[in-house]
Amino acid sequence: MNEVSPHRAVPPTEVGLKAGDTGPAVGVLQRYLSRFGYLPLSATVQERLEGSQNPRISEVFDEETKEALRAYQAFHGLPTSGRLDAITVGQMALPRCGVPDVWNVEDLTFGTTRFVLSGARWDHTELRYGFVNLTTDSARRRIRRAVRAAFRAWSDVSLLTFTETATPPPPGTEILIRFTTGSYGPAGSFDGLGGMWGWAYYPPLAGGNDAGDVYFDDAETWNTEAVVPLTELDLQTAATHEIGHALGLKHSAESGAIMWGSLNPRTPKRTLHQDDINGIRELYSTRVPLVLELTPALAAAEIRSARLEPKFFGTGGPDPYVSQQSPRFGTVVQIGSQVSLTIKNGPIP
Ligand SMILES: [Zn+2]
Repeated sequence: MNEVSPHRAVPPTEVGLKAGDTGPAVGVLQRYLSRFGYLPLSATVQERLEGSQNPRISEVFDEETKEALRAYQAFHGLPTSGRLDAITVGQMALPRCGVPDVWNVEDLTFGTTRFVLSGARWDHTELRYGFVNLTTDSARRRIRRAVRAAFRAWSDVSLLTFTETATPPPPGTEILIRFTTGSYGPAGSFDGLGGMWGWAYYPPLAGGNDAGDVYFDDAETWNTEAVVPLTELDLQTAATHEIGHALGLKHSAESGAIMWGSLNPRTPKRTLHQDDINGIRELYSTRVPLVLELTPALAAAEIRSARLEPKFFGTGGPDPYVSQQSPRFGTVVQIGSQVSLTIKNGPIP
């Protein structure tokens, strides 16, 4: 199959590209940086995901491209040369998760904590997961066991509990798991063997109607053995990472973390890093979020009186993944980081 998916993030190979260079090789670099959120910094997430149509792919290695490349290098712990050096080309060629590293410009400023929260989390801690389908790469019981172990890594260090549902998963199952070679829902499509191997949607609010859903690229060969051959991917490693997204964690700049964006499941990593533990505890430790269910009129009154200050409000908010209308939850507004407001009976007047 020679057809190149518009979502395929072809890694750049032209070692030595630098500011001032022009041509198609610069376009390949810009498209890669755009696909994973680094360029252009001001574009919306949707524009980044549709990098191939992005009018800002200028094929000119300008200052913005240099800064985006430096940000990529910083996030991956590489020397921030701003040039496409050999070590950077090598990093970009490795398999990685399809979820962009950068969703907001602010994410590029790293403080002492390296884990990054998506701004969304489940409003309850007893979650269910189910398999929509399974890969045929391994026995069913081995796949289920690997994914169960991945969930256990997160429940061991937080208040979360996970229960596997029957197949097919009943309505209301929070986390649906699929193996597919094509589309992973509205956010895009997998790219065949190599490159991107997984995708997951954040919890309600940020994750929209697909909240919590986890996808694995079935063009890859998934392995559930103790020792993984070099050309295959460790399912437990990949599942632990994607479940982290489904619980509300974004990519971490800590290269030892399960939530590192360029985590490579060819090398099994089946335990959490302290950075991952800090992140999940920030979301699901002692602070179980308070969920208010109000009528639209009462919600409007509360907001007008400034007793509740909506963090995300209205369509076209700061993040296009913020969903105000969700069939599963009605109208959802997050109030600060502590309170989710669910209005069951319609939009706020
Ligand atoms: Zn990821």
